[in-house]
Amino acid sequence: MMLKSNSPNLKSWVDVPKGSDFPIQNIPFGIFKTKYLSPVAGVAIGNHVIDLVYLHENGFFDKLSLPQGIFNQKYLNDFLALGRKKGREVRERISELLRHDNDELKSNKAACEIALIPMSEVQMLMPVRVPNYTDFYSSEEHATNVGSMFRDPKNALLPNWKHLPVGYHGRASSIVVSGTPIHRPKGQVKPPDAEFPVFCPSQKLDFELEVAFITCAETKLGSHITTKDAEENIFGLVLFNDWSARDIQTWEYVPLGPFLSKNFGSTISPWIVTLDALEPFRVKGPEQFPHVLPYLSFDGEKNYDITLEVLIQPEKSEPTIVSRSNFKYMYWNIAQQLAHHTVNGCNIQVGDMYGSGTISGPSPGSYGSMLELAWNGQRPLHLADGSERKFLLDNDTVIIRGHAEKDGIRIGFGECKGKLLGAL
Ligand code: MN
Repeated sequence: MMLKSNSPNLKSWVDVPKGSDFPIQNIPFGIFKTKYLSPVAGVAIGNHVIDLVYLHENGFFDKLSLPQGIFNQKYLNDFLALGRKKGREVRERISELLRHDNDELKSNKAACEIALIPMSEVQMLMPVRVPNYTDFYSSEEHATNVGSMFRDPKNALLPNWKHLPVGYHGRASSIVVSGTPIHRPKGQVKPPDAEFPVFCPSQKLDFELEVAFITCAETKLGSHITTKDAEENIFGLVLFNDWSARDIQTWEYVPLGPFLSKNFGSTISPWIVTLDALEPFRVKGPEQFPHVLPYLSFDGEKNYDITLEVLIQPEKSEPTIVSRSNFKYMYWNIAQQLAHHTVNGCNIQVGDMYGSGTISGPSPGSYGSMLELAWNGQRPLHLADGSERKFLLDNDTVIIRGHAEKDGIRIGFGECKGKLLGAL
């Protein structure tokens, strides 16, 4: 599908600095507030945010017959619920209004003054209210590394791994937007030489480099979504840091999987980059063998070529890039994940978030967690300020960035950033 809004030839009358994550071909959706505005919906272009409430109230969306007040809300859920097709129409219309040869908004100085707000003056908020959160485990390299470390390098993957996208239901209430600090969790830990567990702050605090998809449909209990229809039910993607306490996880996870080691906080980037904007960046995923069951088979290219990086910034120091990975490494794609999630009749809701699982690439520099990068403390990382890390220290800030790039067009996500504070 070739969308007009994705043409590399488009230029905007709004200044877009070179290397910006937000050219006219992106148009990601988010929720923001300013000193003067309560939370409203907006899109990003260059270093500006566009107030969609203003555009809607002043007739710029009149031909789209949108519900009144659809953008004047704390969350995008009602807008997402209009469906992917309506979202596409709105994005196309915004693209039209921002084109260099379109005067409708450009020549209306008063409107520009109000609708275009410098990013430095806005605070980004959670884009959606998240009813449900699921986390997958879909990177073969990550699963292999973890399996080798804790079980057996010869049988690193468990027997089910290549037959289904392994996942668990996570905690939605503790998903926070970029910029929100996270406290080091306390919990039960069993030191290897101890007979009994102790209660203490986690000593193995980690990040997980992930990308999450957000659904824009409500389905009936008992129904399922096929791999063919999956993407029409997905609005877009955000960057996702699934903070993890490895020492708590090691002690608690058998037999039902992670619990308190993960539910103390997860951080997302504030802009939802639409699947429409990512359409030109589809690529083939890894070959899947053994062949998957028919309900998991799919046609076409379902992976996305999105360059990812993780930086650690100690207090009062420069950040260091510690990992460079790519979303295209995922063994199981988002269509398979959603098809598997619903094949038993599980219903989905608008705003549901689905984490990819840690995205590790084939080389050590592309691993998506400290656990793998420093190999459970055996190979400490060296940061630019001369310090070492086996796991995260208090006051470290973790920054995830991501972008897709092709034909001179860069579709970026902005930042997913969080500072780790000491235990309370
Ligand atoms: Mn995870």
